[in-house]
Amino acid sequence: MIQPFDGDELLRIVDAKTIQRESMYSMHRIVTDSRQIVSGTNSLFIPLKGSNYDGHDFILSAYQGGVRNFLVNETPLPDYELPKASIFAVSDTLAALQKLAQWNRSLFHGPVIGITGSNGKTIVKEWLGQVIAKSHAVAKSPKSYNSQFGVPLSVLGIEEYHKVGVFEAGISKTAEMEKLEKIIHPSIGLFTNLGTAHEEGFRSKTEKLEEKLKLFSRSRYLIYREENTEVSQIIHKRFSSEKLISWSGIPGTDYTLSVKKTDTGSKIILMRPDLSLFTFHTGFTDEASLENLRHVIVACLTLGLAPKEIAEGIQELKSVEMRLTIKEGIHNSILIDDTYNNDLAGLGIALEFLQHQRPKKRKILILSDLLQAGSAPELYEKISQLLHHYHIDVLYGVGQEISFLRHGFPGNSRFYPDTNSLVQSLDPNSFDNDLILIKGARKFEFEQIVNALQERIHGTTLEVNLNAIRHNFNFYKSRLHPRTKIMVMVKAFAYGGGPEEIANLLQQLRADYLAVAYTDEGVYLRNKGIRLPIVVLNPERESFMNLLRHRLEPVVYSLSFLEELGNFCQTQNSPMDIHLDLDTGMHRLGFEMKDIHILAESLIQYPSLKIRSMYTHLVGADDPRHGEFTLEQLRSFQDMSGQIKSRIDDKPLMHALNSAGIIRYPAYQFDMVRLGIGLYGIDVNGFYDLALKPVSTLKSTISQIKTLSKGQSIGYGRAGIMPEDGMIATVPIGYADGYDRRFSNGKGYMLIHGRPAPVIGNVCMDMCMINITGIEARVGDEVTVYGENISLKSLANSIGTIPYELLTNISTRVKRVYFLD
Ligand SMILES: *Cc1c(COP(=O)(O)O)cnc(C)c1O
Repeated sequence: MIQPFDGDELLRIVDAKTIQRESMYSMHRIVTDSRQIVSGTNSLFIPLKGSNYDGHDFILSAYQGGVRNFLVNETPLPDYELPKASIFAVSDTLAALQKLAQWNRSLFHGPVIGITGSNGKTIVKEWLGQVIAKSHAVAKSPKSYNSQFGVPLSVLGIEEYHKVGVFEAGISKTAEMEKLEKIIHPSIGLFTNLGTAHEEGFRSKTEKLEEKLKLFSRSRYLIYREENTEVSQIIHKRFSSEKLISWSGIPGTDYTLSVKKTDTGSKIILMRPDLSLFTFHTGFTDEASLENLRHVIVACLTLGLAPKEIAEGIQELKSVEMRLTIKEGIHNSILIDDTYNNDLAGLGIALEFLQHQRPKKRKILILSDLLQAGSAPELYEKISQLLHHYHIDVLYGVGQEISFLRHGFPGNSRFYPDTNSLVQSLDPNSFDNDLILIKGARKFEFEQIVNALQERIHGTTLEVNLNAIRHNFNFYKSRLHPRTKIMVMVKAFAYGGGPEEIANLLQQLRADYLAVAYTDEGVYLRNKGIRLPIVVLNPERESFMNLLRHRLEPVVYSLSFLEELGNFCQTQNSPMDIHLDLDTGMHRLGFEMKDIHILAESLIQYPSLKIRSMYTHLVGADDPRHGEFTLEQLRSFQDMSGQIKSRIDDKPLMHALNSAGIIRYPAYQFDMVRLGIGLYGIDVNGFYDLALKPVSTLKSTISQIKTLSKGQSIGYGRAGIMPEDGMIATVPIGYADGYDRRFSNGKGYMLIHGRPAPVIGNVCMDMCMINITGIEARVGDEVTVYGENISLKSLANSIGTIPYELLTNISTRVKRVYFLD
C-alpha cells in the first residue's frame, strides 16, 4: 500500500492521456502481475512488456479480478471494452511505474541507504536490514530486486510507518543508473566493491565504475572500502571529501576495522576516529562475509546506531540462504521449505511460488511470527488478506503475535506458542497429497518441522536449481525470433532432472510444447497435473488408448504406423493431433524422401489425424565438420515438408533445430525449435558454457573415514592401492546410483570443502571410496560429485562419454530436491 492518489494526481505524476474515465476510488496499490491482485477496487494495474511476455495480454484477467483502474501503453490500445473502468495511457508503462516509485519516494523523509557494487549487494542489504530492523521499521528490496523493474517495485513498498529504507541497485549497461538514482535517491550511499569480471554492456572497467557511481550523485554520504587504488582514485576525483566515509583494515581512513580469527569465528575490531575501540563477534571467517559485515557496521554507525546495538545485531546474522526448496513430503505431499527471510515481501513471494505448484488437495501454511518492527495488527491484517487471496486452506501459526490471525483468518487455523509444541502435536497422518509451505523466522528453527514432514532423504541427492533452468530457457529464447515456438525435451526423466517439477516450471515459462520418448512418460506427466501439449517421440503400438485418454500427441514415423493409428482413431471416432518425423540423414525413425508421395496420399485417407507439425533431426549440428551435411539435411527437410504441405489442408509447424542447432543455424528456426541439453546448462558447441548456468548438483555425504597405510588395498579386486599413509572416505554413491564405474581408480574425483579427492579402487554398486589424505574432513561432511565446480563436460570427457549419458544415468533412487536461489 502506498499513499493514496486519485486520477488527477496520477495524470500529474506520470503525464498520461485519459482514454476513458469513470468516477473512481482513490488508489493505493499498484499491481503489475494480474495473478497478484489482492483487492481490486483500490488497485492500479500497470501491465509491463518483457522479452518473454506482455502484461497487456492480462488486462482482461485483471479486470475479472476486480481491477477498475488501468495504466497501459498507448500503442496498441486494448481493443476490448472494460465497462465502468478508468483507462489511462502512456508511451512506456515501465517508465510510468518508475515515476510512480519516484513519487512515493519523495513522500518519505527518513534516511535511505542505496547499495551498489559488483558483489555482495544483496547480502549487505539483507544484513543491514536485519540489524536496523531490531530498532526501526525498515523498507527494503525483496530478494535481489535491483533492476529497472525491481527497484521501482521495491521503492513502492515504502509505507508510512517505515523509518529507514535500504535498497540495492544493479545495472547491466550504461545509462541505467541515472534512472535508478532518481527512484532510490539515497541519502547514504554504499559501494560494496568492483568485480574483475568483464561485464557485457560496458566498454571498460572504468566505464562500469563511473556508471555505478551515479547512484551517489546526490547522496549526503558515500561509504566505501579504501584499498583498491583504482576505485579510490576515481571516487576521490568524483566526489567532495566531506561526502566520503572510508574504512579499511589498516589505520588511515575514517574507520579502521581489523579482523582477528578466533576459535569460534572472527573478531572485528573497530577503531573510531576518536581512537576508542569496540569489538564485534561473528561466526563468519571467509573474506567476502567479513567485507560485507564491515560495510554493514559502517552503514549502521553512519545511521547513528550505537556500537553495542550493532554488535548484538551482527552476532545474530547467519548466512543469507535465499532458497526456496521443493522437497518430497510424506504421503505424497509437496513440501516447500522457505529459509528466506521471514518478512511480508518474502511471504508474498513464497505464496506466489506456492500458487504455481502442481495442483494438490489442500494448501497448508506453517508460519511463525514475522519478527518485524512496526505495527503488528496492521501487518497481520495484510497477512490475512494474502492468505485469503492465495486460498490457503489450513494455517499452523507459531509464536505470540501471529495469533492476531485468529480473527482475520479463523478458518482451519491452529496456533502454538513455540515450535516444540507444534512438533509434539504434529500428526503425520493428517497430511495427504497436500501442498505444504513452511516459513519461519530463523530463531523458530523450523528445520524440525521440515524433518518431520519430509520423505527420508538418503545420503545422496540431486539438487536442481530452478532459477538456472529459467535463466537457460530465457537465454535460448533470447536467441530466437519472438514468434518462434519452443518445444522442450523432457524425455529420459527430463535428462535426469526429474520431469514433473521441470515440466511445471516450463509451463509457467510458457514453453509451447513438451516432448517425451515414450507414452508412459507422457501419462506420468498428465497424472502429475501437467497441462502443456506433450509430444511422444517413440510411441508404441500398444499405447494408442493411453495416447487418446491423456491427450498425448504421437510422432508418426512410418506408413504402417500411420495406418494402424489412423484406423484406431477412426474406430474410436476420435481425432488426434500427430507429428511427422522426416528422416533426412539420421536413419533412425522417420519417412524418407521416397515415401513422401505415398505418405501424402495416405494422410488424406485419415481425416481424424490432424498434422500439427513436421520435423527432422540433425545428426551433427554441434560439429563444424558436418556443416555441409547439416545444410543438406535442412534443404531436404524443406523440400520434403513442402511437398507434404502442398497436398494437405492442415498447416503444420516446421522444426529442425536441437540445442546445438539453435546456436549454429539460427536461420533455420522455422516455426519452432526443440530445446534439450541446453536447458540443463550445457552448450555442446562450447560457445556459451559461461552464459548458461549449471542446473544440477549431485551431492553426497561421507559415511565413514578410515586411516590406512601405504600399500593397503581398497575395494573389490584389490584394484586400489594406498599410495602412501593416509585416509580414505566412503561415500554412499555407486554405479547403481548412476556414478559410472569408469570413474574407478583415480579417473573420477569429488570435492570436499572445495578440494579434490580422487576415487580410489573400483566403484561399487552402492558406494565408492575416495582418497582424502591431506583434506580435513569428518563423517557427515558434504561431498560434491558434480556441480558448479566440477563440470559435467570434463567429467564425461575423462571417461570417454558425453554429458547426456552422465545426466540421464542418475538413478531414480537418488532424491531430487528443487530450489530457487
Ligand atoms: C533429444 C532430442 C532433441 C534435443 O536434443 P539436444 O541435443 O538435447 O538439444 C531434439 N530433437 C529430437 C528428435 C530429440 O530426440
